[in-house]
Amino acid sequence: MEPDEIEKYMKAGKIASDVRQWSMGLIKEGAPAIDVADKIEARILELGAHIAFPTNVCIGDVAAHYAPKLNDKTEIGGVVSIDLGVHVDGFIADTAYTVDLSGEYKKMLKANEAALSRAISLVKPGVSVCEIGRAVQETITGAGFRPIENLTGHEVKQYELHAGLSIPNVPVPYDRRIKEGMVIAIEPFATDGAGRIVEGKHAEIFSLIAGKPSRIPESRTLINLLQERHGLPFAAHWYAKRINPLKLTLAIQDILSRGALKAHPVLHEKEEGTVSQFEHTVMVTKDGCVVTTR
Ligand code: MN
Ligand code: MN
Repeated sequence: MEPDEIEKYMKAGKIASDVRQWSMGLIKEGAPAIDVADKIEARILELGAHIAFPTNVCIGDVAAHYAPKLNDKTEIGGVVSIDLGVHVDGFIADTAYTVDLSGEYKKMLKANEAALSRAISLVKPGVSVCEIGRAVQETITGAGFRPIENLTGHEVKQYELHAGLSIPNVPVPYDRRIKEGMVIAIEPFATDGAGRIVEGKHAEIFSLIAGKPSRIPESRTLINLLQERHGLPFAAHWYAKRINPLKLTLAIQDILSRGALKAHPVLHEKEEGTVSQFEHTVMVTKDGCVVTTR
């Protein structure tokens, strides 16, 4: 990797780490989810970076992809996970943590955090992703919970949030190995449910996958506004100030129907189990890794 790329990954990681730490003060019973997400995103921009993906505020059995919508009335409580992303020139830092406001899930969160630490301690060139998945699974099941088997960590590349290699949370029947210079997000999830997620109906998060033209003016406006994201995910409500919200919804439907947009629906635990998540981004070095988001 080029020195300036390393520098940008490290800068994104440092800002993600600072925002992560700072944002913990926002996680209070009854706080509006949309305020939490908006404040985190504003902070990322204030610190001189860009938002890599909409801030996820996942409560209870929601495992991922819940970004508050326009005028969202959801208040936080129970078990709350915050997943935030920062980029500097497309070089991404992806990090998440969970807070237990109920006081009933301390053991699960502790096991989940331990699973992440153990996974990170294993990362070095030549290690099989299966070995990492096994360590995550053992740590979480050892405490009496289940990892989510159909959610994984992932490699990141410039402007690519999910690139190449996946990092499983269970042992997998294939042999793919970590290489020096890879940047990977490791994200174990723990639950007291079945250990699988299913897709919900609603999506607030989307990503543009092709710049297909449209006759609808709002669709054209949205596609133009999205160019600066280089395909990175966005939340629909981000554009509600630039495009009338009703027309924005229609524009999204229009672009979706023409196959130029990918929806990322909310992911729920299959048995409505409570879900936690801890995530860090690491850069693989010659004999280990550097955690960019710590
Ligand atoms: Mn994440
Ligand atoms: Mn991730």
